[in-house]
Amino acid sequence: DGPVIIVGAGHAGYQLAASLRQAGFSDRVCLINDEAHLPYQRPPLSKAYIKGAAGPESLMFRPEKFYQDQKIELIAGRVAAVDRAARKVKLASGEALDYGHLVLATGARNRLLDLPNANLPDVKYLRILDDSEALRAIMPSKKRAVIIGAGFIGLEFASTARIKGLEVDVLELAPRVMARAVTAEVSEYFQARHREAGIRIHLGVQATSIEAEGGKVTGVSLSDGRHLPADLVVVGVGVLPNIELAAEAGLPVASGIIVDEYLATADPNISAIGDCALFNSPRFGGSLRLESVQNATDHARCLAARLTGDKKVYDGQPWFWSDQGDDKLQIAGLTTGYDKVVLRGDPANKAFSAFCYKGEELLGIESINRAGDHMFGRRLLGMHRSLAPEHAADESFDLKGALA
Ligand code: FAD
Repeated sequence: DGPVIIVGAGHAGYQLAASLRQAGFSDRVCLINDEAHLPYQRPPLSKAYIKGAAGPESLMFRPEKFYQDQKIELIAGRVAAVDRAARKVKLASGEALDYGHLVLATGARNRLLDLPNANLPDVKYLRILDDSEALRAIMPSKKRAVIIGAGFIGLEFASTARIKGLEVDVLELAPRVMARAVTAEVSEYFQARHREAGIRIHLGVQATSIEAEGGKVTGVSLSDGRHLPADLVVVGVGVLPNIELAAEAGLPVASGIIVDEYLATADPNISAIGDCALFNSPRFGGSLRLESVQNATDHARCLAARLTGDKKVYDGQPWFWSDQGDDKLQIAGLTTGYDKVVLRGDPANKAFSAFCYKGEELLGIESINRAGDHMFGRRLLGMHRSLAPEHAADESFDLKGALA
């Protein structure tokens, strides 16, 4: 009972506020926003937004009037401390707010590159709208980009930069792109596609220094002794969850803010959702921290239900997407721990899916330009069901029939 204070107005925070009102929550809802924009969608920042010319309003979840109509108090500022005994949060401005329930939806921040010259203006990151704006503004004056990290964001930016006419080199320490997230089959497909587009991908190498003259980047040196000229460096080497506020308030943290299967922290008056939450998942039998829109919004909906009297274990079905050049990658399920991959369709046709199995159990499906397989996977896995590997491999097998 009492006001719900939400720290962070990203995907999770926004969705929680909206879902609370939808579920009839009538007390105060305060959404504390430390970015200088109305709550907005992040995925386009490395995709359509950076490519196009649309203004920031194209990214906003809702116009300002929505928050007024719904009596969602958008409070500009940053929460500096939580006083659990007094059930108060303290903003950096000094203002204090009382909570009945506090929700940490603080997300994650970029892991920074620890190299000399990494703080020069030509070295960019991509997490917030201001980052995407800054890149969009300087790209027309740049000729050669070196991208450090071949994860989703690095590769999405690489394809955009190439389309915009830049020379592009991508550096990746692992032996293949997106190695932590996708199967070798899918990595190989994307490596080939990016190379066809004229992007140079360097695997098994690290940036050892960034060279600059007069404050302007001139190139990047690699661990194998090579040197690549560059006038722009974009770093995509992963994120760190924002757990400090929770830790300083004495809440248990590890590689995220630790919450149970209801998304509650050790303090019953505080929950954590989205990228910052390390949650206990009965479905996957362990602790998980995921970085996806699905995870953030499904967490938010589950918590809104609990706070309005409908307490349920969080049991969201993970899914994800990434747009790179003309290819759309969609992932249903969690493929960690797979021991067998079955392909449906042919990579040569630029449309196929990799069905990932552990034994005979389907863990997840990575689809490239095959939205039907992806939707099938989400529905099947959502029903806690599997599909025989021989049926996955057989294109004449009707997947829809398997859902009946
Ligand atoms: P965030 O969206 O990070 O929001 C957290 C907010 O809390 C931030 O605004 C932060 O500034 C604020 N905050 C932190 N500390 C405080 C504090 N003390 N006081 C006040 N505010 C605070 N996911 C997909 O599923 N598909 C995609 O294609 C995809 N593409 C992406 C592309 C980019 C460029 C990025 C950056 C992410 C992408 N993601 C994608 C991931 C997805 O955007 C995140 O998983 C999602 O935003 C997580 O939501 P969140 O609310 O937990 O965190």
